[in-house]
Amino acid sequence: MATDVLLIGSGGREHALAWKLAQSPELGRLYAAPGNPGIAQHAEVVSLDVTDHAAVIRFCETARIGLVVVGPEVPLVAGLADALRASDVVVFGPSAAAARLEGSKGFTKDLCTRQSIPTARYRRFTDAVAARDYVREQGAPIVIKADGLAAGKGVTVAQHVDEALAAVDACFADGVGAEVVVEECMTGPEVSLFCLCDGERAIPFGTAQDHKRAFDGDQGPNTGGMGAFSPSPLMDDALLERVMREIIRPTLADMREMGSPFAGVLYAGLMLTPEGPKLVEYNVRFGDPECQVLMPRLASDLLPILRAAAEGALDGVDVQWTDNAAVTVVLASRGYPGGFESGTVVRVASGDLPGTILFHAGTRLVDDELLAVGGRVLAATGVAATIPAAAGRAYELAASVEWPNGFYRRDIAASV
Ligand code: AMP
Repeated sequence: MATDVLLIGSGGREHALAWKLAQSPELGRLYAAPGNPGIAQHAEVVSLDVTDHAAVIRFCETARIGLVVVGPEVPLVAGLADALRASDVVVFGPSAAAARLEGSKGFTKDLCTRQSIPTARYRRFTDAVAARDYVREQGAPIVIKADGLAAGKGVTVAQHVDEALAAVDACFADGVGAEVVVEECMTGPEVSLFCLCDGERAIPFGTAQDHKRAFDGDQGPNTGGMGAFSPSPLMDDALLERVMREIIRPTLADMREMGSPFAGVLYAGLMLTPEGPKLVEYNVRFGDPECQVLMPRLASDLLPILRAAAEGALDGVDVQWTDNAAVTVVLASRGYPGGFESGTVVRVASGDLPGTILFHAGTRLVDDELLAVGGRVLAATGVAATIPAAAGRAYELAASVEWPNGFYRRDIAASV
């Protein structure tokens, strides 16, 4: 029987999910809220306030939704998945309690300690004076993290003690209830590993590497991500098994033991240090823009896999990938991640370039004109047999977009 799906979110990640879900022979109707013009090519966009859980539940009951897929972390941390589950709606995405793996860095660090999961040494502080003393005692380089969701910001890798002290002060400047985590600074290349989890089991669901800084040569401020490629050439089968054994499975076991089993996507940010792989952080959803390079490589039907994860039935699920590599280049508004002009016109070519997909993020369609209305606006994905060939296609697509107010990095995947 066909499944009607509601997809929550409006970014490039959700466009990639919509693009893939739309190919499923098991899909009935695909709805999206809030959606964007790219998602609207595959789904019926519905005007739902996703912070109004009762309204989302009413919609699911009326439209007989068989599966809700929650893209971003904010509704998960706010408990949307709990509210839906309590009303017997099948939902792919962790409970608020399980989403603490992303929502609270201190929570995750304490879990790592309990399970002896390799990660940077750390201390948690709720008091600025004690945190400052500890920073002075440890010296630089040192890492300062604000607890709580920070949309990719909130982390300072300080090369000097003064910079670290300023970061501590900035975390506490907002006043009551603040917490900082002060961490040892690790070194090594970074890899993202995605795992699908059903509360009991975790199955690997692809690897990627991303580019966080705004400008070429990893210069400029941190962003939500300016590009990504998949698979990561740094991850082989032996390393993957080690990460599953030392990091992912103990995490799932701990979450189960504390009564908050994790179901959804567990996205592990890993650093390959001289002592072995260590956990940098967890996210509880697909990466954006990593999703835009994972979905085009997935050979299996996404819909039954997400439903199996949501229903605690991943046992025996087999995930197949194509032999292709994928690269995505993010087109952002000039000024991002700082202030930028909203509402400039973007022209995208109508003819399809082979092996490319243009995913929409911050776009809006007004009177048949496509407008840029966000920081990250489009993700140009190329798919080919090798990463360099995929990058060539992604850049061909990026160059075909006419948007004087936009910019993109020229060195995505260039090091591969
Ligand atoms: P996070 O938001 O925790 O992923 O941190 C953002 C980025 O900061 C990571 O991708 C790393 O590049 C860097 N980072 C975070 N923690 C550490 C650490 N303990 N040592 C070195 N770099 C780190």
